[in-house]
Amino acid sequence: MTNQRKGDNLGAMKEIAEVAVGLPVSKTFHYRIPEKMENVLQIGMRVLVPFKKRKVTGFAIDLLDHPPKGVEEKLREVEDLLDEAPLIDVKMLRFYRWIADYYIYPLGEVIKAGLPPGLLPKSEMIVALTQEGMKSLVQGGLEPIQEKVFTEIEKLGKLTLTKILKKFSEEVSKSQLLFWKKKGLIDIEVSLEEKEVKPKFEKVITYQGGESAQPISRKRSEILKWVKERGEVSISELNKRFKSPSKAIQSLKASGLIALSDREVIRNISVRAELKPYPKPELTSDQEAVLVEILKGIRSKRYSPFLIHGVTGSGKTEIYLRAIEEVLNQGREAIVLVPEISLTPQLLSRFKDRFGENLSLLHSKLGRGERYDQWRRIWRQDVKIAMGARSAIFAPFKNLGIIIVDEEHDPSYKQEEKLKYHARDLAVVRAREDEATLLLGSATPSLESFYNAQRGKFRLLNLPERIEGKPLPRVEVVDMKNEKGLLSEKVRAALKKNIEDKKQSLLFLNRRGFAHFILCPDCGLTFKCPNCSVTLTYHLRDRSLQCHYCDYRIPAPGDCPRCEGHRLQGMGIGTERLEQEIRSLFPETQVSRMDRDTTSRSRSHQQILKRLESGKIDILVGTQMIVKGHDFPNVTFVGVVSADTSLHFPDFRSSERTFQLLTQVAGRAGRGEVFGEVVIQTFSPEHYSIQKAKNHDFIGFYQEESQFREALDYPPFSRLINFRLIGNSEKKTKALSEEMGRIGQDLLKRGYGKGIEILGPSAAPFAKMRGKFRWQMLAKGKSPKLLHQFAQKLTLQLEEEIRVEGVNLDIDVDPVFVL
Ligand SMILES: [Zn+2]
Ligand SMILES: [Zn+2]
Repeated sequence: MTNQRKGDNLGAMKEIAEVAVGLPVSKTFHYRIPEKMENVLQIGMRVLVPFKKRKVTGFAIDLLDHPPKGVEEKLREVEDLLDEAPLIDVKMLRFYRWIADYYIYPLGEVIKAGLPPGLLPKSEMIVALTQEGMKSLVQGGLEPIQEKVFTEIEKLGKLTLTKILKKFSEEVSKSQLLFWKKKGLIDIEVSLEEKEVKPKFEKVITYQGGESAQPISRKRSEILKWVKERGEVSISELNKRFKSPSKAIQSLKASGLIALSDREVIRNISVRAELKPYPKPELTSDQEAVLVEILKGIRSKRYSPFLIHGVTGSGKTEIYLRAIEEVLNQGREAIVLVPEISLTPQLLSRFKDRFGENLSLLHSKLGRGERYDQWRRIWRQDVKIAMGARSAIFAPFKNLGIIIVDEEHDPSYKQEEKLKYHARDLAVVRAREDEATLLLGSATPSLESFYNAQRGKFRLLNLPERIEGKPLPRVEVVDMKNEKGLLSEKVRAALKKNIEDKKQSLLFLNRRGFAHFILCPDCGLTFKCPNCSVTLTYHLRDRSLQCHYCDYRIPAPGDCPRCEGHRLQGMGIGTERLEQEIRSLFPETQVSRMDRDTTSRSRSHQQILKRLESGKIDILVGTQMIVKGHDFPNVTFVGVVSADTSLHFPDFRSSERTFQLLTQVAGRAGRGEVFGEVVIQTFSPEHYSIQKAKNHDFIGFYQEESQFREALDYPPFSRLINFRLIGNSEKKTKALSEEMGRIGQDLLKRGYGKGIEILGPSAAPFAKMRGKFRWQMLAKGKSPKLLHQFAQKLTLQLEEEIRVEGVNLDIDVDPVFVL
């Protein structure tokens, strides 16, 4: 990687490099530094090292004078140096170490998670035919499967091991291939996959000054004039303007009037904000008061954590913008985390309007090349602000002044795969590490964050009113036990009135598809996903049954396949059915739907939102996609079709989640001049989540929910670590989980982890997912230190056995962050 960034530490004469490899191994390894790399290799650079029989990318995390005791002879050499400057500075490395430790995850894998994917070349196994193998293929006499595989290799010259195993998955195993290798028929060799994303360059022409001594052709002089006016132009621009200019360019270059060089270009980002001016608004006195406190924090240049509890529409964004302005004035940098950036073009547009090109975007919807470029812009310090979804917390700034986490309660901040980090928690850690200001903002703060504020760990700031004095919407709760059909009398009347008044309405239902599941009333048959323990959802558009977890799909049968009954019925409604219902109720009305099925094409959800904004939609039906921070002044009615879906989810956070969703959905109503109205339909009208959401009463909700959590010893009053075993074989996974239980109990008996309680092992709530069986054990405890000690001991003991069994251990440290 070429660079314009200076290293943090000059390479001294060190002999040994400690390397974290980008593989799922918890240890780090030591390698000798070859002479040519002495003085060059620095901490934070990527290296290529031999690992078993492969070559892998690793990160130099420390340099030592001498090899550690006991490993001297075995040490191999660093093979290659992949960077000219450290990718990771010392502060970032400390951050990564903290993460690896807290989430009990290999350091190399943690670092990998923080870098754009294109930075890691991968080694792979290439399979080729030997002469012997070739001869056998020509002469014949091979087994049929050998012949098949060999023919394929012959055709393509060489193939990777993974490709062969994938292509012939039913017929060939890895051990078979190794056996053929032993017999001398094939070769299997390691090679480096050239997948690394590279910076993109374009040729540019620069005017060098002066005029031509000799007379030149008209074309040449026109080109020269054009370049001179612009100073620097790219060849592609020039090609657009002039017909076949290459000869002219060569001649101008030869006479020294212009020069050619390469310039790095930043790939265009697929997510675009519409550029609209947002005049800087006057602050309300509440906003003013909150900002004063935050500015004090920023000016102190110390770790200053704040939780802004501001009702929906209270103007948090303007506070963020002003805080960032102050940070930029100090010459420091800012990270802004938002739940799903692509879902909030309005927010993006406001930031663009205020900060222009100083803003970089990092999120998962970007292509590899785009992400790589954005990351490099930050790393080179070309930009000062990084905005993005959870992974933006790893933005490689060196002089961070503020981290903002908008909608800090949002579940999308938790990564649910591999490294299960929580970006909000990491924001706290990084802000503390970098002596930066931390702003967590929400209308419905998470229980953990509010608890931290109560205990004085975060400074609590309140924005209790909507800007411009717009009142919060009136919320009514309808008991569906007394109603017939999908929509209550109230909702239907409200929709009708809104259509007449030319106002817009939102209908929220947190389940996509047509029917939740299909049931045969004659024999009771339902359709289950073969890979997951869930029922299949019926989708009308393509008459299919689909699994929403693994994307398994089959055509929906006409009759019951078991009893041949003709009465298959859809049970439970989804957004697709709701849309249909609305269309038949109000045939003259413009109805649209926004859920994952209607927004799979890129930009399609932006188009839906745009149509809503321009008044081309009267009623928008959607899942929680419609909940996120949009601001539509003409939306005056919001209907929640069923508050019960999230309430009965098997998770101790289901009440909190329901309260948050309802409050956020309700917050969409009445952002403009007209008073907003909300109706919540439910079968549990008395539930406190629903009652407190009705009254916009966060504090009331917090108190009630806290009592429940405290009584049952759930977070934030304790900590949880979930040890989940995931395996292909049900029997092995279960057996190993029992072993895990024994090890856990044994550790407790031996005095590791006082006050720790073990729940399970038992089958996980979704016992089968994507074809894999899941068993789990929960450890609960008050002391984070003891709980972690226990978890580490348990993991170490399990690791060996797991490798033999082919079952993976997946550790989930609950995102309760009590500092
Ligand atoms: Zn049946
Ligand atoms: Zn499935």
